[in-house]
Amino acid sequence: MVVQDFLESNSGVAPKLIMTDEDQSMRIGIEQVFPNTMHRLCMWHILMKLTEKVGTTMKNNPDFHERFMSCVWGSETPSEFESQWCSIISDFGLADNTWLQEKYESRNSWIPAYFMETHLGGILRTTSRSESENAFFRHSANRNLALIEFWVKFETALEEQWQKELQEDNASLHTLPMLETCWSIESHGRDVHTHEVFAEFQRQVVAARDYCHVKSIVQVGEVRTIGISSKSGKVRVVSFNTSTKAAHCSCRMFESLGIICRHIIVVLKNEGCDEIPSQYVLHRWTKMAARQLSYDANGHELEGPSTCLSPTIKKLYSKTCSKFSLALHASKHCEEKMRYFHKVVGDAFTQLEQMGAISEQSKVQEFESFVGTSFPSVISIHPPDVANTKGSGKRLKRGSEQTVNQKKKEGK
Ligand SMILES: [Zn+2]
Repeated sequence: MVVQDFLESNSGVAPKLIMTDEDQSMRIGIEQVFPNTMHRLCMWHILMKLTEKVGTTMKNNPDFHERFMSCVWGSETPSEFESQWCSIISDFGLADNTWLQEKYESRNSWIPAYFMETHLGGILRTTSRSESENAFFRHSANRNLALIEFWVKFETALEEQWQKELQEDNASLHTLPMLETCWSIESHGRDVHTHEVFAEFQRQVVAARDYCHVKSIVQVGEVRTIGISSKSGKVRVVSFNTSTKAAHCSCRMFESLGIICRHIIVVLKNEGCDEIPSQYVLHRWTKMAARQLSYDANGHELEGPSTCLSPTIKKLYSKTCSKFSLALHASKHCEEKMRYFHKVVGDAFTQLEQMGAISEQSKVQEFESFVGTSFPSVISIHPPDVANTKGSGKRLKRGSEQTVNQKKKEGK
């Protein structure tokens, strides 16, 4: 079974969440193999059936369409969704529609309001990814290929994708997108995020400047509760701890997408924060995320040069690199923090020297370890055979040329 194979290839570790279309056999397989995994349905596959199920006239009714989409996508809480859904069913006379009844029964597996607290890394619209992967592989493979041809094309396609990723990674590290506000927090977002994530963050910053205003403030102890107006007219509620800088917004964009929303940005700006608090910069969205080494289930390095380090040391090395990058970034905007970090690293280095001489692998050793063999001590290079230069001898002719020449001779 595919689900069982997936579990084995993932070293027996079950995923936290799986998204599929409404395939019944997948649902049964997932329930059996991943009893504790959250299973969500792809909204795109469900909404694709809307026209067929409610009829073209109803689907094209702008009032119905706007209210239905707003209810499905825009509801922030289950109770908000339920009340909007019920009023739509009543207002448009859809109480007898069995498909809508079924979708309402399974609402907690496809309506975003039911899993706003679950981090989905922006894959709510699953189809955009799966369909783009389908198109990607369809471009380079088809069902008539022999196995070996498929394998070669598959590898080429993957290499092409990796190359594109490297290019984007390079652009994120060495180029800077234009800022659209004079807010320091936008500049900080640009420093830490990849270009793609920064584009979304920047959209939030601009919306915060243009549409969000503080409507009310209530303070109890260190927690400030702030009402923020927004473009849609809804008032979002942000709770902000002035001591820890912890913020939570009723729109729950951070919990779902991992990027802080416009409402929290307004609050941070008003609180005088020039930077995004570190707990709101997810490592996976940072420029340094791709610098972390990856390993397979057996501890083999998946990218970068392989070395003779043990799997345990490799993993520790990877974690240390990641932590070092984060600490360096967290300190670089403050002289006091930077001095402290410099001292700690210096002390650690001195300590390591005292623990024994620090041997550094030479470039030659690194290279030998990479190619898996050592350089020979004596290298004999023989002079190459003398090759005929152009025009010095007769060229071997291809079959077609010979045929043409034969015909010319016959024609004479
Ligand atoms: Zn918000």
